[in-house]
Amino acid sequence: MRQPPHPNSYRDSWCGHLGAERAGSSARVAGWVHRRRDHGGLIFIDLRDRSGLVQLVFHPDMSGSAFAAAERLRSEHVVSVLGDVVAREEGNVNPNLPTGAIELAVTAMEVLSGSETPPFPIDEDVDGLDETLRLKHRALDLRREVMQDTMVLRHRIVKAMRDVLDDRDFLEIETPILTRSTPEGARDFLVPSRLQPGSWYALPQSPQLFKQLLMMGGYERYFQIARCFRDEDLRGFRQPEFTQLDLEMSFVEEEDVIEVMEAVMATVFAVGDFDAPPPPWRRMGYDEALLRFGSDKPDTRFGLEIVELSEALGGSDFKVFQGVLDAGGVVRAINAGAREMSRKDLDGLNEVVQRHGGKAVAWAFVEAEGAWRSPIAKFFSAEQLAAASALLGASEGDLLLFAADRAPVAAAVLGALRLELAERFGLVPEGVHDVLWMVDWPMFETVEGGGLTAIHHPFTAPTGSFDAPEALRSRAYDLVLDGTEIGGGSIRIHTPDVQRQVFEVLGLGPEEAEARFGFLLDAMRYGAPPHGGIAMGIDRIVAILAGRDSIRDVIAFPKTASGGDPLTGAPAPVVAVQLRELGVQSLVDP
Ligand code: ASP
Repeated sequence: MRQPPHPNSYRDSWCGHLGAERAGSSARVAGWVHRRRDHGGLIFIDLRDRSGLVQLVFHPDMSGSAFAAAERLRSEHVVSVLGDVVAREEGNVNPNLPTGAIELAVTAMEVLSGSETPPFPIDEDVDGLDETLRLKHRALDLRREVMQDTMVLRHRIVKAMRDVLDDRDFLEIETPILTRSTPEGARDFLVPSRLQPGSWYALPQSPQLFKQLLMMGGYERYFQIARCFRDEDLRGFRQPEFTQLDLEMSFVEEEDVIEVMEAVMATVFAVGDFDAPPPPWRRMGYDEALLRFGSDKPDTRFGLEIVELSEALGGSDFKVFQGVLDAGGVVRAINAGAREMSRKDLDGLNEVVQRHGGKAVAWAFVEAEGAWRSPIAKFFSAEQLAAASALLGASEGDLLLFAADRAPVAAAVLGALRLELAERFGLVPEGVHDVLWMVDWPMFETVEGGGLTAIHHPFTAPTGSFDAPEALRSRAYDLVLDGTEIGGGSIRIHTPDVQRQVFEVLGLGPEEAEARFGFLLDAMRYGAPPHGGIAMGIDRIVAILAGRDSIRDVIAFPKTASGGDPLTGAPAPVVAVQLRELGVQSLVDP
């Protein structure tokens, strides 16, 4: 906090700003009782406001009636005090506190609020505080220093984004929250319309279509700190409502968007004191990432790269591998390095494998002279083992893990095993960060039961020929930080013909496309500029920069994993009359 507060009857200084240069003057401060100590007839209080702490001292002779009142003060009581700033004696200086050279000798105090005993301590960072309790008493939780630091960081990051974009002529424009469904691939939150019974608004999964319309509206460069809503199952890095830095630009190609976002993110990293390598950041193609890292958000900070062994281990008597190869699948493996893992630990990995659609992991330990200790070793010739070992760069003691499956499953399984082992054996080097752009994505992927779906979204510009839509690539890009996707976007389709073709591939006939996206197709008919953009996940970025595992710790009022809010009790049943007004009937008794 840079400026002193405007002096009023509560305060004329921030607690955390009182330094030695103020000694000899008087000051009025206000805040919360952080900690209190009684000491040889004196009462010491650490008083806290957002700027920090200052030590108050109450003296039985000098503090008058404030002394008696101070005896009754407890944690989190709210007071305003007037006092003299006094330099502490040498031995009493606290070098750990910015205000540690002085104390405020209180001459008068007004107690503004009491406080019941808080359900958890505010004055120390206790590990493992019950999160439901924290969320239920969020106002108290937000007072804790870690939370305040995180919220300050969040503000700084968002401000940096705004500043960089403002400098580059971007306009901040709001888009509606009550709108129509935008297909980002998740389920919509729906809001019934009272004025048009039977009709529903959808909360935006992103401002995608509006930002494209803004380009068609001639705004050239738009951004928004946008709230997005997706009704998905929640994991650590997901919330039903989350915040994106959303932007869009006209007359641009991939390089233009990437260059702007590199400028934004380099500033954000600097603001967060985050030691990421400076841009330009390297590009990795989707196919390469899947092949080498088994993921479209590869964590490249450690090895254990995936190696293709279909050729080396093909033509064996091992039915499991050979059956997969004959069916067009692959055999791939990682060299996990010299690891001690018991049979039980290895079996335990099957849980990871199965979670990603595989069946079981095959393993081998490399022994002296290149032999393998493994249930599958006997099926392969010495030459095959040697060839596989060579490809894997294996030496004595190394643990090799294999997956044989359809290529996407083998990739997912080994990608997950890489991460599991990295976690288990602490393979990610401390303080090392990696940023990369994932490029050259396929446009579509096959959905279960056949049919295609857009990997990014249906407004992403495809490249290639519609004669073989499943082979189309797209002009999409994702930004990946330390194995987490922190943002993504694309160059868009800007002609109605191509847009219609994409809808068609997705099984959306002309009539349905017109009904759902007529407004977009219509705007495209009147001169749409080539355009593209990106959206960055602000909650994720703040969490990573703040070193928090959960995005709930960087959102002032988040939801729990079940989508609830222990603070307000949302979501909650409503009274029948509200439903009636909306023309809605509930099938579930709350
Ligand atoms: N609308 C996309 C999303 O929210 C981002 C983009 O394509 O700009 O993921």
